[in-house]
Order: sequence, then C-alpha cells, then structure tokens
Amino acid sequence: MRWSDFPKWGKWAADWAAQYHAGLRDRPVRAQTKPGEVLAALPAAPPDAAQPIEDVIADFERIVVPGITHWQHPRFFAYFPSNASPAAVLADNLITAMAPQCMLWQTSPAATEMETRMMDWLRQGLGLPDGFAGVIQDSASSATLAAVLVMRERALNWDGNAQGLAGQRPIRIYCSNEVHTSVDRAIWVAGIGAANLVRIPTQGPLRSIDVTALEAQICADLKAGYLPAGIVACVGGTGTGACDDIAATCAIAKKYNLYSHIDAAWAGAAMICPEYRTLWAGVEEADSIVFNPHKWLGTQFDLSAHFVKSPEALTRTLAIQPEYLKTHGADGIINYSEWSVPLGRRFRALKLWFLIRAYGLDGLRGMIRNHVTWAQELAEQIRTLPEFEIVTDPVLSLFTFRWAPERRDADEATLALLAAINDDGRIYLTQTRTAGKLVIRFQAGQFDCTRDDVQTALTVITETAKTLKDA
Ligand SMILES: *Cc1c(COP(=O)(O)O)cnc(C)c1O
Repeated sequence: MRWSDFPKWGKWAADWAAQYHAGLRDRPVRAQTKPGEVLAALPAAPPDAAQPIEDVIADFERIVVPGITHWQHPRFFAYFPSNASPAAVLADNLITAMAPQCMLWQTSPAATEMETRMMDWLRQGLGLPDGFAGVIQDSASSATLAAVLVMRERALNWDGNAQGLAGQRPIRIYCSNEVHTSVDRAIWVAGIGAANLVRIPTQGPLRSIDVTALEAQICADLKAGYLPAGIVACVGGTGTGACDDIAATCAIAKKYNLYSHIDAAWAGAAMICPEYRTLWAGVEEADSIVFNPHKWLGTQFDLSAHFVKSPEALTRTLAIQPEYLKTHGADGIINYSEWSVPLGRRFRALKLWFLIRAYGLDGLRGMIRNHVTWAQELAEQIRTLPEFEIVTDPVLSLFTFRWAPERRDADEATLALLAAINDDGRIYLTQTRTAGKLVIRFQAGQFDCTRDDVQTALTVITETAKTLKDA
C-alpha cells in the first residue's frame, strides 16, 4: 500500500466508521466469542508475500469485528465508558497521519503548546483555581504512579532515585479500601511495598475514608518510626462510586506535611457541571488530581488529565536530561516528557481541542446531566421491583443492585442474572462486591446513549429475571 492508495481506503474507513456506529444497536454489546476463536482464525505464520489490502479488510470484517466488545455501543452500561466522540476520532486520524513524537518542545512545538492551553481549558472547565498546571498522561494509572513517586521522593528529601530505598525509614501511604487497584500497582512499582499501603476503613453513605482513623494511623506510624509520605483519596471509586471527604483528607495531609493525590478518574468529568462539585469540595487544597477525559468526556483512549500544584516536584522526581535530550538556547520551554514516566508521547491534546470546540462545554455538560438523570430514574424504577434491591444509591450515574428471589442465595442469583443478561446481548453490565454482597453495577455514560437505551436496560433486567424464575 502506498500513500497514493490512501484516499481510497481512507474514505472506505470513514464510511465504515459511520456505518459501524449507526448500526451498533443491532449488535450484541459484549462479544459473544469463545476463548481461542479469534486466535484460531488467524494464520499461525506471517505471510512472506505482500497481500492485497482488500483481503486484509475482508478478514478484518470477518474475524475481528465479531470478536469486539462494543465499547461505543449506546447500551454499554458496564465498567465505565470509554467514549469516542466523532470529533475526537477525527482529530486522532489527523494525529496518526502526522504521527509526531511529542517528547520535547522542539520535537513538537504545536503539541506542547496545545497541551498547555488545553489543560488550562480543562482546569477552568472543572472550576479548579489557577494554581494548578496540567499534563496529559496515557492513563490514570500512570498519573497515580507519578504522584506516588513524588510522594516517595519528597519524603526522602529527593534522594530515593539516587540511593534506593534500602536503609531508609519505611515509607507509608494511606488510602481507603475503595481506591482503584492502580494505587496498589503504583506502590509496588515505586518499591514501597504493599505492606506500606495502609487502608483505612470507610464510613457513611458515600463510603468515605474515616478521617479520624486516618489521623490516628498516621500518628501511630510516626511513633513507630515509619515515614508517612502521602494520601491517595478517591472521588468516584470504581466499584460503587465511593467519594472521600476531600476537604478533611487534604487538611490532614497538610497538618502532617503529606502529599495528597486525588483519583477522580471517572467522576472528574462530571465536575464540568458546577452542581456536582460538592462531591470533591476542598479539591483546591490537593497537590495532585487525575481524571480521564478518555472515560466519560469523549477523547477516546488514551488521554488522562493530571493536574499538579507543583510541576517542580514532578520534574524533580521524573526529569532526566542526557545531552541528546537537551534543548539548547530556549529558556522557559516545557518538555512534557519530564512530567511522566514514559519518554515518548502522542499528540493527545489535539483530541481535546476538537472535542471542546465541536461540542462546547455546554454540550458536554448536557450529555453528563442526561446520563445522571436517566441512571437515577432507572435506579428508582428498579427499587420498586419485587425481589430487587438497590444496594448503593446512585453516585452521579453509577449505582449497584442485586436480585434476591425467594429461596435462592442472592449472590448466586445475582450472578446468574448477570450472565443471562450479558448472553442476551442487548445491554452489558458487570459485577462488583460491596459490604460482602455480590452486586450488579449500572452506569450510564456512553456518548450516544439515549433515555430509551437506559429504559431498555429495565426491560432486559425484568424480562431476564422472569425467564430465570420460570425456568
Ligand atoms: C478507570 C479508573 C482508573 C484507571 O484508569 P486507567 O486510565 O485505565 O489507568 C483509576 N481509578 C479509577 C477510580 C478508575 O475508575
């Protein structure tokens, strides 16, 4: 294939994409593929001779598409969304065509300066004060890793990278038991050790970290000779949307000189709507915040927004400047690769530029408000169904429920219901465990989701439960 062939196939791909999205409601949301099916359909050895792109495309449609779980399906109610808005997809096509590597200002002046401006647009959109600087990371996991590394270096007087952790006082990091597993992995990778990630119980309707217990733990650890370094708090935990009391948590962080990082990977997008900001009241006191525009907002994977009060703390931890990466004779420029663990970076900011301009913050706010309203309506409908229980009330557009028919174990019945719903294919849901109960998660958040799609979930849930009962 040559660039001269590209217009033909590029147009084909654009048409395919539009038709794919238009026809998604007719496909099962979750791939109905068996393990190993796709692998078996792919030749075991690579071709030596070039093959016509027509053949590759035919196999793509035959082998790949049926094996896809359709994250862009309007009735994708599982996990959290991973929205691909058409405007951001268009931007991604342009990025891919230029394929720049944006590690330094001089390797990508437009990408660097666009990133600075877009992160500041986002900061304003979220209502954060102007003391925050932003960088785009590939994922919330990477942002949290960067934050944990800063916690470590700051606590060790910026000597951990040089000396390693042997012979140091053991570092301690605190979180609730509702935070995402990316926190565990950050602790492992940072060499701090899972034993030094201290999980504090939660309390109240939002399953917030018990700040009294948190403070008591920090004091006990100080007495015992540990080195408390930071707190990771969550706003919109993955399982059930748990939200810590950010004001109280940050106050404790300040009192004991700990670095605070807020993981709002999913819920952060909703903060473009002022009425939801009570969920993270006090966030302006945090040292670091991450949220994923690649979840709810619409800048398809990957694009994670990481805000920090002190870029110096981040670059002091992560910047490395061998001669070949130096930019001589240009002061005051930003090399964003010094703000993250990977060196190479895609031009992700262009997706934000297209997204925010094509829909406006108002358009995005409207989408999020609809999802929240429709999910809350559905929760109220499920609450009135016999044998159904809302286990956690909606936090924004996420709630959990379970099915407890008479004379059946509720965990087992709920899992059976979930499996039957996903085999049906019209909607897609996942499970979690909260307070010892197996529950089904429901979240509305897909870019093209309508109220009808959410109401279809009610139909599928009630029909499937009835079928299981009658069986
Ligand atoms: C999805 C999620 C993450 C992980 O996000 P990645 O960008 O996939 O690393 C972290 N925390 C929370 C609360 C999440 O919902």
